[in-house]
Amino acid sequence: MLYGQMMNYPLTIQSIIEYGNRVFPHKEIISKMPDGSWHRYTNADMYKRTKKLASALISRLGIQPGDRVATFAWNHYQHFELYFAIPGAGAVCHPLNIRLSPEQIEFIVNHAEDKVVFLDASLIKLFEPFASGLKTVKHIVLMNSSKYLKTSLPNIIFYEDLITEGKEDFNWVEVDENQACGMCYTSGTTGNPKGVLYSHRSTYLHAITSISPNVANLSSKDRFLSICPMFHAMAWGFPFMSLLAGTDTVMPSKHLQPVPLIEILQREKITVANGVPTIWMGIYDELIRNPIKEKLHLREYIVGGSAFPAGYIKNFEKDFGIQCFHAWGMTETSPVVTASRLQAHHEKLSQEEKIKIKSKQGIELPGVEIRVVSDDGTTAPRDGKTIGEFEVRGHWVISSYFKMNIDKSHSDDGWFRTGDVGTIDEFGYMEITDRTKDLIKSGGEWISSVALETSLMNHPHVAEASVIAIPDEKWVEKPLACVVFKDGKSVTPNEFDDYLLRHFAKYQLPKEYLVVKEIPRTGVGKFDKKKMRKLYSEGKLV
Ligand code: AMP
Repeated sequence: MLYGQMMNYPLTIQSIIEYGNRVFPHKEIISKMPDGSWHRYTNADMYKRTKKLASALISRLGIQPGDRVATFAWNHYQHFELYFAIPGAGAVCHPLNIRLSPEQIEFIVNHAEDKVVFLDASLIKLFEPFASGLKTVKHIVLMNSSKYLKTSLPNIIFYEDLITEGKEDFNWVEVDENQACGMCYTSGTTGNPKGVLYSHRSTYLHAITSISPNVANLSSKDRFLSICPMFHAMAWGFPFMSLLAGTDTVMPSKHLQPVPLIEILQREKITVANGVPTIWMGIYDELIRNPIKEKLHLREYIVGGSAFPAGYIKNFEKDFGIQCFHAWGMTETSPVVTASRLQAHHEKLSQEEKIKIKSKQGIELPGVEIRVVSDDGTTAPRDGKTIGEFEVRGHWVISSYFKMNIDKSHSDDGWFRTGDVGTIDEFGYMEITDRTKDLIKSGGEWISSVALETSLMNHPHVAEASVIAIPDEKWVEKPLACVVFKDGKSVTPNEFDDYLLRHFAKYQLPKEYLVVKEIPRTGVGKFDKKKMRKLYSEGKLV
């Protein structure tokens, strides 16, 4: 055996922030803060504060290597600092999804055994209701808070005090590249949310690959706006990608409506931005409703998280000359697995055919592999016709969930089963046509149809209930609940909403409650959702 004689240089988050500071210290990090004010500083400023924060995590908060440290916050510079300070202290950065129900968040924090939560003051009202149920949290650090804030939360520390206490000459904690640096939970289908632990190595490899030309194609010429929340699959990797590519970085915190986003795109001359379909559909519709005088600098928008209607890809290009870059992935896959761009051999195609290719989910990134597995368990040919479930494996694909043994999450030969269904064509472009998982994706966020059904069926007046996804112009999908009442009983939609709000977030509520005599069932007695969807689309689900 003859080994290469190269240095064994670890792939770590520490090395990403060192690179960003060494090579691009002058690049800007700009935040529109929750109170509407703007904050601007440079990578060099961010680096110094992050060192102080990492040192205070250890000296003041007692964080040990491997501890989970949660965030409950919007996208802004302090959140960006935490993305590097927590792994820099040898710990695991765990952004919490602020849109989940109190019950789900409480479960997640307790399951992850988070030691500290960094909380945005503007989100305190969402956090207070479940704070007393958090078993492992020793400190809550408030960001962007007045010192006179009234709260029931115990053991409050203020973020800026921590930074003041920290030491700028702190040495990053040395880590093995396979140690965990980040963690996100993915919504459960039938069971609880499941934890995904990312390693320094997987995060580094995902980020360096994601900035390359066939993928996000980011460079030091770009001004990047991250609309994708930092709690969604580690912000799709953008904080790491921004420092490696040397972009200027802009974050919108809670200003996520089309009008303020367009203002940010204009004011900060953004060249690339990421977001789920609902964001881009909203921005396009607003630009058409209220045209702006100056042309946007946006050359490309990154869209993923749910299917994006081809009409928008076409119209963005036609009306504003802005290109769509479409990607696919999952929390379990860091997230990006495939990316859709045209290649040289596509140039001769008609505009219509080009749009069709862009609306496919794309080809796999180097470092990951994808296959379609047919119902009979064989790998389907790449013919664009044979349908099956997508399975993936690679450097940034989950090998197991955190503290949970999930039956059948992987194939016998170790590939991760995605629950997405579709084809791969002869040029390697995958296309999703369906999914096996019983979930609804609304505005880029999951809703479990099974959890809704279970709650509805626990209602004393409901005999049975089944929930399916129906198309929605704004949110892409929304839940539709079909309910059968017990004899002589009835419940109004408002009463159902109030009842469900005890366990669900507002965005998860059904768009409609359809009262039916019976729910269609399959041969084995399960709710026949395929049939329900078909009947609904034909206006016959009554
Ligand atoms: P999450 O873990 O919340 O990011 O959800 C991942 C799932 O979102 C995938 O398994 C798909 O079902 C869906 N998804 C993500 N990206 C796309 C896309 N580009 N097109 C269609 N569905 C997508």
